[in-house]
Amino acid sequence: MNNQVLEIRLSPKGIKPVRNGHPWVFRNALGGRPRPAALPPDVLRTVTGNGLCWDHTRPAIVSDPTGTPIGWGIYNEASRLALRMINRNPSSAIHRGTFEELIRAACRRRDSLFLQGDTDAFRLLFGEGDGFPGLVADRFGTDLVLEFSGAFAWDNRRWIAEEFRRTCSAERIRLLPDREMLGREGVSPTDDREGDRDHDDAREQDAGDASSSVVIHENGLPWRVRPGSGQKTGHYSDQRENRRRAGELARGCAVLDAFCYHGGFGLTALRCGADRVVCVDSSGAALEMLEENRSLQEAPRERIEVMRGDVFEMLRADAVVPEGVASFDLVILDPPKLAPARRHRDAGLRAYKDLNMAALRLMKPGARLITFSCSGVVTREEFRTALAWAAVDARRVVRIEEVYSQGADHPVPLHFPEAEYLKGYLLALD
Ligand code: SAH
Repeated sequence: MNNQVLEIRLSPKGIKPVRNGHPWVFRNALGGRPRPAALPPDVLRTVTGNGLCWDHTRPAIVSDPTGTPIGWGIYNEASRLALRMINRNPSSAIHRGTFEELIRAACRRRDSLFLQGDTDAFRLLFGEGDGFPGLVADRFGTDLVLEFSGAFAWDNRRWIAEEFRRTCSAERIRLLPDREMLGREGVSPTDDREGDRDHDDAREQDAGDASSSVVIHENGLPWRVRPGSGQKTGHYSDQRENRRRAGELARGCAVLDAFCYHGGFGLTALRCGADRVVCVDSSGAALEMLEENRSLQEAPRERIEVMRGDVFEMLRADAVVPEGVASFDLVILDPPKLAPARRHRDAGLRAYKDLNMAALRLMKPGARLITFSCSGVVTREEFRTALAWAAVDARRVVRIEEVYSQGADHPVPLHFPEAEYLKGYLLALD
């Protein structure tokens, strides 16, 4: 029976972070093999008899090392991340309503965040940040993209999409598997892709086919986005507040937007009164979208220069513009994850240091640098230390003026600091 409820005991060491509210349990923190749970029949029926799909995962009642139940979780035999806690209440058996309520609560929180009405693109649900592991939901105006990185979320994608449709009246919902993450969960979405298509209704589309675009508004500025295609879910909504702030700081400035993607920072800066903006990215497709957005926003062509290239190389050779990086008042560095996984952490930290050193070395006195790391495995302290070394090696005196993070639609549970993946600083050069 594949929906059998399991009982999982945690090891004495494994229980500690869970007691402190952490939702993840790795396999080496389990105190032995999961066993079928001895629970009253009505509890078993609640968990297994309500339309949840348990293809790749199992519901589990989780106990401390002495066998006292402490809450409910989802177990995955195939994953190193073996167990994800869902609640801390053994008498509240998980069922479909548990997860529907997580979706509704996440949407309600966004309702009270975006009251101003000048933004209609944001993250509606942020995985563990909203208590729903392996699922991300991004709203793009009337469209929704659901991205699945967890086996449980993927197996239950049909009713999850339905619940979102009911809760926030989306016109179109796209389902996007994160194949790499799902692979680690023992799921290979390509295998059942054909089957998927058969079941798709007209409003639910495979994101791979998403050629249509929508116009969204962020901080009052229009953007053309192709939901579910390009990078991430199509648009980096996590930088929304930081773009707004960068825009304020950019007034009258010459701005370098390095790793610009669709020009999120650069075009916002232009709209806010930057003198001149240079945008650099290595992706031709991203730069085409940037041009589309420049035209949509009616930004003057003569004040923006768009360049395709490798930022690392261009900084090393001071080859971004003929006048040199010293001609910019404000430089923005928003690279992709330079430490995509734990094993890349040290190399990633070196890359952050080198990148920022290269920029600081060339920048003029009095200029400002807005610099980010979006690597989840790099902590804020580590990033800050890398920046400090960059300043030392660039022989610059640098002050932190502001500290940045992801927007409020990417909430960070206090007991799950890993959710805070985006770290940024505004640095001022003496
Ligand atoms: N600042 C953007 C998001 C940047 S995402 C925004 O506000 O939306 C990171 C970008 O870096 C991607 O667009 C990717 O194409 C680009 N990129 C990755 N490696 C690069 C490199 N070595 N040089 C230039 N661009 C790079």
